[in-house]
Amino acid sequence: MATLIDGKTVAKSVTDAVKTAATTLEAEAGVKTGLAVVIVGDDPASHAYVGAKSKMAKECGFTSVQHTLPEETTQEELAALVETLNADPSIHGILVQLPLPKHLKSDPIIQSILPEKDVDGLHVVNAGKVATGDLDGGLVSCTPAGAMVFVRRTHGEDLSGLNAVVIGRSNLFGKPMSALLLAANATVTTAHSRTKDLAAVCRNADILVAAVGRPEMVKADWVKSGATVIDVGINRVPAPVKGEGKFRLVGDVAFAECEKVAGVITPVPGGVGPMTIAMLMANTVIAAYRKAGRKPPKF
Ligand code: NAP
Repeated sequence: MATLIDGKTVAKSVTDAVKTAATTLEAEAGVKTGLAVVIVGDDPASHAYVGAKSKMAKECGFTSVQHTLPEETTQEELAALVETLNADPSIHGILVQLPLPKHLKSDPIIQSILPEKDVDGLHVVNAGKVATGDLDGGLVSCTPAGAMVFVRRTHGEDLSGLNAVVIGRSNLFGKPMSALLLAANATVTTAHSRTKDLAAVCRNADILVAAVGRPEMVKADWVKSGATVIDVGINRVPAPVKGEGKFRLVGDVAFAECEKVAGVITPVPGGVGPMTIAMLMANTVIAAYRKAGRKPPKF
């Protein structure tokens, strides 16, 4: 049976370290770390995410500012708010919750955030730094950064000699995850919907990362014995046993069968999910340290 990675426990260890770092920065440099979270419209899931992020920022000892804008906000109004936050010295991190309502274009907004305040790591400058292996200069997008914490705690900093397979090539996850594994010296394959014989590709992986969005796609006979399996997928599937119309969350990995083959595995929920908010907090305190001219902590 595989060892289970408890994402909540690992995430708490990261946010505890963030709290300590934020307290030290305030005590030694008089700088209070500030995070601004912007949400547009009424999507309940987005409001739940934003609420959790603002709450965690307060728990970390940050100044936490939430801007809730109405659904009918224009592109210009949103851009103007980002400009104001870019210029605000008390704000070290800016997060614009995605997706935006359909009438708004998210890319120009994300690209207008100053790269050094782009704590979601989505600006092309930050994506480019990850792609070129400059991991100390930019901000790494939160979900791959969180998955890498699991990888490092399982295998150490140096993945020399290990084969890693990432299923998925999105800009949000698959591409930066592959770049981070490569930067740690793994031999990396990025698989996607056009990959031939995906099962055989996966069986070669010492570290298998699934970020597809297809419930329980990865089966036990895709997993090399003893491999580390990281499941990024979040899929809602019907759960009639819970009642009519009810859902449960499953990952992209068929957990029950794969945990019998893997060496280490992450559950869904409670695996990668909690790490995303923790790494957002980590990026914000890193941004505050850099702004104060101090060497930021590593997480
Ligand atoms: P995405 O942009 O939809 O990308 C999905 C990737 O999976 C694409 O590269 C696609 O290939 C590939 N794919 C689709 N069907 C496939 C198949 N049958 N075989 C092999 N590859 C296939 O999704 P994403 O944003 O990366 O997210 C992926 C999953 O992770 C989702 O379930 C999402 O909810 C979850 N996620 C979780 C978190 C979190 O925990 N906080 C954060 C981000 C994402 P092509 O490029 O060829 O189309």
